[in-house]
Amino acid sequence: MSEGLLHHVEIYVSNLERSTSFWSWFLKELGYEPFQNWDKGQSWKLDETYLVFVQTEEKFLDIPFHRCRAGLNHLAFHASSRKRVDEMANNLKERGINILYENQHPFAGGNHHYAVYFEDPDRIKVEFVAPSP
Ligand SMILES: [Zn+2]
Repeated sequence: MSEGLLHHVEIYVSNLERSTSFWSWFLKELGYEPFQNWDKGQSWKLDETYLVFVQTEEKFLDIPFHRCRAGLNHLAFHASSRKRVDEMANNLKERGINILYENQHPFAGGNHHYAVYFEDPDRIKVEFVAPSP
């Protein structure tokens, strides 16, 4: 384990069931394994990093997440190759998940940045990016 790598990220979601069905599919694709599971949350682990999804309390649901406000904009995950990015893009389309910046795909992040972008159910942006050539 390298000091400084992310230990975990915890994300509050508006609807735990909806979010975990979305994220469990994507994270399994990436090799994550279920880690913790309780009535208000679920986590997924890969190597030494885990992601936690927690149901937001009702009283805090009045203001929805927006990635253009201060705070998190997106989460980016390593893909092992450009081919894996292409496979993921196809899987997303098959599942009816909207691909962001589709007219610029797969170079929406720049000419040397090969990635697919999409949104989770709360519209957190997710990026899956190939290694730099
Ligand atoms: Zn990014």
